Amino acid sequence: MHEASLAQEVLNIIERAATAEGFTQVKAVEIEVGQLSCVEPEALHFAIDALAANTLLEAAEIVIRPVIGRLRCHHCEIEFNSTTLYTVCPHCQQSGARIVAGDDMQITEIEVLEVDHV
Ligand SMILES: [Zn+2]
Repeated sequence: MHEASLAQEVLNIIERAATAEGFTQVKAVEIEVGQLSCVEPEALHFAIDALAANTLLEAAEIVIRPVIGRLRCHHCEIEFNSTTLYTVCPHCQQSGARIVAGDDMQITEIEVLEVDHV
């Protein structure tokens, strides 16, 4: 359950932001998930929903946006889009490429329901 620990991490990050910025409820969270990150968006969504009860995410809408995976071929240096690491270069048909983008997960937006202005 890889996604369960990521969901916990998302919750931890948002709880720290809540402490720092003084909000108590989150209205919406936007998370970008790279296609090469090995994170299944549906599973992550489910895992966050499962954790959200009695937290500041209880009423939050979770929006997960996929980020296109991008690889650069080791042989011909061509960059191409891919949803998997195990692929051959569309230009030279050889395998072996490094990740340029789309291998991570990040919270891109937290919309809060109310902020306590002091
Ligand atoms: Zn190539």
